[in-house]
Order: sequence, then structure tokens, then C-alpha cells
Amino acid sequence: MADRGISTQANGRAGRRQLLARWCHRTGMLPLLRRLRGVSRHDLRVLAYHRVLESTEPHGFSFDTELISASADAFREQMAHLRRHFSPMRFGEVLERIERGRTLPKDAVLVTFDDGYDDNYRVAFPILRELDMSAMFFVSTGHIDSGRPYAYDWLVHMICSTRADRLRAPELGLDRALGATLAERRAQAAELLDRLKGLRDERQAALIARLEVEWNMPRRQGHPDCRPMTWEQLREMHRDGMEVGSHGVHHRMLAKLPRERMVAEVKESKATLERELGAPVDVLSYPVGGPDAFDHATVEAVRAAGFRMACSYVSGAGIVAPRTLYALPRLPVERQMDRAWFEAMVAMPEVFGYASRLRTG
Ligand SMILES: [Zn+2]
Repeated sequence: MADRGISTQANGRAGRRQLLARWCHRTGMLPLLRRLRGVSRHDLRVLAYHRVLESTEPHGFSFDTELISASADAFREQMAHLRRHFSPMRFGEVLERIERGRTLPKDAVLVTFDDGYDDNYRVAFPILRELDMSAMFFVSTGHIDSGRPYAYDWLVHMICSTRADRLRAPELGLDRALGATLAERRAQAAELLDRLKGLRDERQAALIARLEVEWNMPRRQGHPDCRPMTWEQLREMHRDGMEVGSHGVHHRMLAKLPRERMVAEVKESKATLERELGAPVDVLSYPVGGPDAFDHATVEAVRAAGFRMACSYVSGAGIVAPRTLYALPRLPVERQMDRAWFEAMVAMPEVFGYASRLRTG
């Protein structure tokens, strides 16, 4: 989490991309474009999901709808498309090939999930199993088994459901009336999250904690619509061929933490996962994952902790090479994507993927 703030201008771009995607889909050009692209580019597509729910517009939902990547039906269709037209892989296989100096198969693709929401187990996992597909689940270990909602998502929930009528965030120079409709509140939450993520970690945490007290909405009370998975669920998925990776301990932006705490998040998440799963954990995805969520020091800490690969949330398909191993770009999948757009994006990521500055995970 959490993906934010598609501006009006960006919506315009998304609109044009979607129209172009539909046209390419309708005219049957996509397979040809993909083959042509494959001649010159031999790269890895890593899809990034957060939540898969039965519906992308759940009734009475007060959490971040931008974290709903797809409905169950769309997800099934997307996975079936990858199986039919691409080479789905596991991170373990990719790492093995890299270490042996072997190339990846044509149209290699990986499926990833960030955060560790329980719908990953309830909704996505059965679909993956049904289609004999694997995926990587990057989880924030401090949330697993705790029932505790993720901080950014709780902030959205508070803004969408508080009875208070003003939002005061002096840290960000904000003092404004809260909107009367859910749509207005969602827009305000998106803007706040966007700006919040520019702050150092302790200031982000303090702002959220202050609103919890001011609005009497403690995060520890939890909510059925924002629940992390349990260790038992993760162990079952792992036994059944799913991969599990680190997304830190507390879902903190690693580059915004003091160095010792950043290193502790990296090391502790790995140790906890390995202890709970009884298997090595080789891959991490940087929480939030945009360019300001990780830096040189973070990459070094991740490498030193023994991770063999790391994913960013920068949009794109990457050549797998030593210099990109610790900042693999990904392709965010969004609930607004219809079938044509999804298929166009995986065929031609450069043309149909989201601009990276708009999406963070
Ligand atoms: Zn995340």
C-alpha cells in the first residue's frame, strides 16, 4: 500500500491509454506487438497486486479502494491470460537461472502481492491453485496474526468515517472542512496520504496516532474489511507452492527511517519469516516502493541481510541484471483496468503501464 492520487490530468492519460488498449485488443494486434517486442527485449514482467475482493466496489467499504487491484473474476481472467500467453515463473526459478547465467524464457512473468491482506488467502489463493499458478506474497510480518490494520489504510478509513467535520494536520499545513460525501472524503484522504509520504517516518506515525486519539478511532480495534493474514494461512499457502517474501515488519518507508531502525526492519522481517515458514526467504519488496521509499543505504542493508532480490513499486518491466536485482520495477494492476487494458499492459508495458510517479505500493 498505498497507491494514491491519480490527478485529473493522469486520468486523462489513463483514458487515452485505455482507448488505445481497446483498439489494439479489438483489432487483434496485441499478440503481434508482443512478439515484435520480444525480439528486441528479453525482460521480466512483475505484476503487482494488493487486494483481490469479490467486487471492486464493495458495499459500505470505508477503506482504500485504490488498494483493490481486481475483482475475483477479473483476477481469474488475468491469471488465465498469463497462463495461456506468457511464461509464468517463480522467483526461485528466476534466481536460479540468473545464478547459472541462463537467460529467462520469452515473456517471463511473475505475480506479486504486497502487504498481506487476508483476501490474498481467501480470494486470490484459491484462484491461483485452481489455475495451477504461483505468486509471491510480500507481507509485513508485524501485522501477520495481529489483526491490526495497516496504518495508511486506517488513515483512509478514519477520514472516510469520522464524525469530525475538520481535518487538521499542521505538520502538512492542512486545516480544512471534511467533505460531505464519501467521494469527497476519499479524494481528501488520497491527497493527505500523498503528502504524508513526504514526511520522515516518526512524523507520519505521529500524525496518524494523533488523529486516532482526536477522532477516537484506535487502530487496535481492527476491522473485518482490513485484516492481515495469519501465519497459519501463510504456511498453508507456502506448503501449496506459493512464495512468501518480506515487506518489512511494520510497513514503514525504509528510506524515511533512522538507519538502525531501517536495518532492523530488514533483518527482523527476514528472520521472522524464516522462523515461521521454516524455509529461506530471498526476496523483499520495499514498502510503498516509489523512488523515495528506498535508497542506496536501504539496498545495501537488504543485500547485507541476505536477500537475493528486491522489488520496487516503480512502474515498468525490467531487464534482470546485477544492477537491477535490488530494484526490480513492477507493473501495478489496478481495478480500473478492463480486460483490454490489462492484456495491452502485459503485452506492451512501456505504452500501457501506469506512470511510476503515480503509483506506490
Ligand atoms: Zn505496501
